[in-house]
This record gives sequence, structure tokens and C-alpha cells, in this order.
Amino acid sequence: MKRPRRSLLIPLLVGVAAVVLFVNVLSTEEPRTDLTVNEFLDAVEAGEVRTAEIKERDQEVLGELRDDTRYRTTYVGEFADELVQQLRDATPPIEVTVDRQAQSVWWSVLISFLPILLLVGLMIFLLNSGPGGGRVMQFGKSRAKRVQADAPKVTFSDVAGADEAVEELREVVDFLRDPSKFQSLGAKIPKGVLLYGPPGTGKTLLARSVAGESGVPFFSISGSDFVEMFVGVGASRVRDLFEQAKQAAPAIVFVDEIDAVGRHRGAGLGGGHDEREQTLNQLLVEMDGFDPNAGVILMAATNRPDILDPALLRPGRFDRQIVIDLPDVRGREAILQVHAKGKPLADDVSLELIARRTPGFSGADLANLLNEAALLAARRSRSIIAAEEVEDAIDRVIAGPERRTRVLSPDVKRVVAYHEAGHALVGHALEHCDPIHRVSIVSRGRALGWTLALPEEDRVLRSRSELIDELAMILGGRTAEELVFGEITTGAANDIERATNIARAMVTEYGMSDELGLRRLGRTHGEVFLGKEVGHEPDYSDTVAAEIDSEIRRLIEGAHADAVTVLTTHRSSLDALAAALIDQETLEEADLRRLLAGVPRGSGRYGDGQTTVGA
Ligand code: ADP
Ligand code: MG
Ligand code: ZN
Repeated sequence: MKRPRRSLLIPLLVGVAAVVLFVNVLSTEEPRTDLTVNEFLDAVEAGEVRTAEIKERDQEVLGELRDDTRYRTTYVGEFADELVQQLRDATPPIEVTVDRQAQSVWWSVLISFLPILLLVGLMIFLLNSGPGGGRVMQFGKSRAKRVQADAPKVTFSDVAGADEAVEELREVVDFLRDPSKFQSLGAKIPKGVLLYGPPGTGKTLLARSVAGESGVPFFSISGSDFVEMFVGVGASRVRDLFEQAKQAAPAIVFVDEIDAVGRHRGAGLGGGHDEREQTLNQLLVEMDGFDPNAGVILMAATNRPDILDPALLRPGRFDRQIVIDLPDVRGREAILQVHAKGKPLADDVSLELIARRTPGFSGADLANLLNEAALLAARRSRSIIAAEEVEDAIDRVIAGPERRTRVLSPDVKRVVAYHEAGHALVGHALEHCDPIHRVSIVSRGRALGWTLALPEEDRVLRSRSELIDELAMILGGRTAEELVFGEITTGAANDIERATNIARAMVTEYGMSDELGLRRLGRTHGEVFLGKEVGHEPDYSDTVAAEIDSEIRRLIEGAHADAVTVLTTHRSSLDALAAALIDQETLEEADLRRLLAGVPRGSGRYGDGQTTVGA
């Protein structure tokens, strides 16, 4: 049913070949006697010839003699007229026929086109049997996948921590289940629902759960499917997709990652936006084209609503926009509960505690976390997942897999231990830093060692004091190396980069510098194309540029001075921490509490290098 052409092609070709052969076999007649022209003319003179058929095309004469022998003779083209005359004049008369065309027109046309037909046939066959399995003939078709009715159902109960979004979508589901209820009240249901939020927060999951709840056909396509590689295809794919959906109405069309087609028109780097613009235009046309009560609802998801074309967002199109944010503590706990289903957890595992330890984790991160824990438990041949595995899994998700095989020489180990101890000590002592949760010198991912500080609650805003203290903590590692070894290593490059970025943002973005005041300095652009900052355009004078530089330097030097103060004041604790790290490699909260007992948390008010060490 799908593509009759391909399956019929080979039998067809074989058939044609067979017919050609068969006809040729039929047309080979019984043997004839070959006569030279002179012999033939002699026979004519002698009146022995009864019939003569002149085949002009082949320049031969076929016929019968009076004694019934069949003959064939060939002649030279120039003498054709003469020959015909001679035969016509002969006595007794000869039955002469002149055949100017040896074969029927159709037959010869067919014969001459046959090789071409065969080639074309072969080509189509090869293209169709390529790795894409016949995609070539179908590029204008929508690639939407229709979720099958018997596919595993996702429902709203699979989505946790996104209650507002679910509430909004419930209305859409109600409409799809019973459109007449809304229509009789004259209510118009939104044509388009846009879900946006950071990656991994469950946008795709929510859309699928709408399909599962409403039980209507669900056409899902990714924005990049529209664009792909054939120019001019996107628009026809959009058309085809909506065609299918309208036939199946009530139905949901879900365009995932819509930013792939829906970016601002006429913006971005490089050229060649025509294709995308046409696709977007077609999408807009389709959205305007369908009657709100036709029962087709367009859902879309993106994590970059800021780069969408304004035309998509105007009322009457995606008029329902639902934000899905990173989950808060309670949301995280609920998500963990969903994903803990079917995973045997030990009694010492508290989902509430995990939720508190994972600020900034998305739903996808949390799902991944529990899965990692289960994998670790399996690797350790446990039958249940214990708190230990969950802890390890958190570290794994945050910092990457452990690299125990990377063996550090004692010297390097000492440097790394002091570096991490420096971070930890400064982070502990400064009032506005997050509590230190764990310090380790076991390599993970690309880091040689790491210090994990976790906020006590989810952070929405960051204050200037917090940023200043964070700068000091970031520089604490390198400062410890300086103080202890009088030598610095390349290990702090990442710290320095982070510190510089924070300081620059404080000056140019947050208006946190007294000198430069409340001003946004410089414009960043390029988001439209790469979704990333690709250029920084100064909109200030060279004097201001110099001031920015000196402000950044002042902030960093101040933070460095703070770190020096903390580390020299509490040098004995620094040494104790480093020694413990070399010995145990990883220090947990309890160890830290013991080792840092002499350093009251937030014991000093520091900041901007004007450090005063308190009680
Ligand atoms: P995105 O927002 O990037 O589309 P997905 O919907 O693809 O994110 O989420 C990826 C996975 O993360 C889901 O399949 C699900 O397992 C998990 N997940 C994300 N958010 C939630 C949530 N709110 N509740 C339950 N699971 C979630
Ligand atoms: Mg998604
Ligand atoms: Zn560091």
C-alpha cells in the first residue's frame, strides 16, 4: 500500500525483456537462399522470380522463386530505383511490394527508448533501496509520528512538580474530550499552547501526557524535521502535517523544539534563511487558517521563547503560554517520588533530603540521578538502593564519573589537597557562602578535586555580598597554593575564569560597582543564531573600558585579600583539612564539622578586601 512502484518495478522490467526476446524469436523465419545481385537479376531475366518484397531500410529483397524456394538478396542503396523499375518491367510480371520502413514506428521507438527506460528504472530502484528506505520520493511529506493508541500511555500523574502547568492543560484536555460543551457556550479554545522553560523540565513529557489524557490522535514532530536538508520542503511538510491532523480531528499537533523554525525572521548570522522563513510563514498561515473549533490544537515546546518570532506569539496563535520552571524543593521531592516507583529504596534513603540537596536540578536530572543510583546498586550487587548509592549518584550527576584510575603522585596530591582545603575553609568561614557539603580529591570528569557547597534553600536572587564572598571562595584554592607552596599551578585556570566572569557581570550587568553605577555596559548579541553570546559590542568610551577593567581587578583583588586573611588566620585548620584529605580523599559533612570546629561559620565579616576578623 505504501509504495506500489518499488515492488512492481522489477517484475515489470523482467516482463519487458521477455516480450522483446519472444518477439525476436517469432520473427526469425525459415532459412532462405542467399543470391548475389547478379544471380538475382539473371533469375529475373529468366522469369524465375514470382514475388519480390523490397525492404528499403535493410537494402534487401526477399521473395519466392517460381520453384517455391525463398531467397534473399542484398543490393546497394543507389540502385534501388533502377532495381524497382527492372522488377516492375519484368515479364512475366513479378509481384513487387516496396517496404520503406522495416519495422513499425512504435516498435522502433520502443526499442530505442528501452535502454533509457531501463536506466531510469534502475536509478529509481537504487534510490529507493538506499539507507533511507525510500525517503527520496517522500521529502515533501510530513515526518510527524502519530502516537499510536496502544503506545504506553503517559498521563498527568507521571508529571510531578508542575501543578500550574497541568491545571492549564487540563482545560485543553477537557475541550478535546467534549468540544460541544465549550462550543455551546460560545467559548473559543486556544489554538496554540506554547510550553517553555529550561531543558529537562518535562515539556515534552507534558505534551505527551495531554495526548494520553485526552485520547485523541497526537501528531508529534520536531522543529528540526521541518528544516532538514531539502530546500523548500519545510513549508510543504507543515501543510501536509496539518492536512493529516484536520482529517483526524479532534487532534493535537505537537511541534517540539519549535525554535528551530520559529526564530526571528531575517536575523542571525550567515545567509540562507529563506527556507526557514517559508516554513515559519506556512506555519503562521496554517494557524490562522484553521477554525478554532475544528478541533485541532497546536502545542509547541521550546527552551528559548526569547528568540521566537513575535508573529508566533501574538494573540490568536500561541495565545496560551505556559512556563515550566526548574522545580522547587517540593517539586523535586514529588518528581523523585514518581521516578522512585519500581525502585526498591532502603529505609535510610530520604527523598526529602535528596530534594534538598539538589537545588537547580531539573526533572530530567532527578530521573537520571535515581537511575544512576540503581545502576550503582546493581554494580555493587545490592538488592536495594541505599543512601550511599544515592549520594554517589548525586556526585556523579554534578561532577561527572569518578576517575579512580587517575593516580596522582604524592606531590600533586598534596597540591590538590591544599587547593580544595582552601576552597572549603574560605567557603566555611565567609558569612554569605553556601555551606560546604563535601570535599574530595578523587578526580571526577575533568576536575582533579572538587568542593561541593549547597545552598540551604533554592536561590532566586543573589545579593552583592553573596557574590563577593563567592569570589573569595573561588579564589581560595589558588590562594592556599600560594600561601603553602609559594608556587602556583595551572590547576586554578578554571577558578580564575569563573571569578573573572562573576566580577565582569557584577560590573557590566548587575550595576554592582560604585564607580560605574547603574548602567548596563556593552551589548551582547548573537543569541538569535547560536543561542549563545557570540559577540560583545562595546557601547562605552575607552575611558569607561579602562574603568571597567580596574573595577574588575579591584573586585578580584579584594576577594583574594579576603581569602588570604581567612587562610592565614586559620592556617592550622587549613593544614588539618589538607592532611585529612590526603589521608581519606573524601571528607563528608561530619568530618568537616569536626575539622572546622575552630572556625565558626561566618565568623568574620569580609568583603571587598576590607576584612575584619570577628570573634
Ligand atoms: P524537556 O522539557 O526538555 O522536553 P522532557 O519532557 O524531555 O524535558 O523530560 C525528560 C525526562 O525527564 C522525562 O522523560 C521524565 O522522565 C523526566 N522529567 C522531567 N520533568 C519531569 C516532571 N516534572 N515530572 C516527572 N518526570 C520529569
Ligand atoms: Mg523536549
Ligand atoms: Zn579550584
